[in-house]
Amino acid sequence: MGTMIKLICPSCGLNSGTIYEGYGFAKKRYGVIWCKNCRKFSSAVIAVDKYQSGKWKTQKYAIFRCKDCDERVSLFDLNTKSCPICNAIMDQELVGFWD
Ligand SMILES: [Zn+2]
Ligand SMILES: [Zn+2]
Repeated sequence: MGTMIKLICPSCGLNSGTIYEGYGFAKKRYGVIWCKNCRKFSSAVIAVDKYQSGKWKTQKYAIFRCKDCDERVSLFDLNTKSCPICNAIMDQELVGFWD
């Protein structure tokens, strides 16, 4: 099951809106990406479980692109949660669950 979260920066007010994160839809794992061109957060598939020769294998993705501008973007680190604009630690709010 994945979670729907919101990231809000207490210092500069950056607000991610609702983003999907975690494990759900069709054995796909979602992570949070940040596009510095569009200055916005979104979710991207970071890994997929595939059934191959009798076993489940996790295929991880290493390259992510912004859906809006096609810029190569990096994964946002949900452990450190440092704001991409001002480096303050962002607050994480739980919006709901999905699967
Ligand atoms: Zn900030
Ligand atoms: Zn973009």
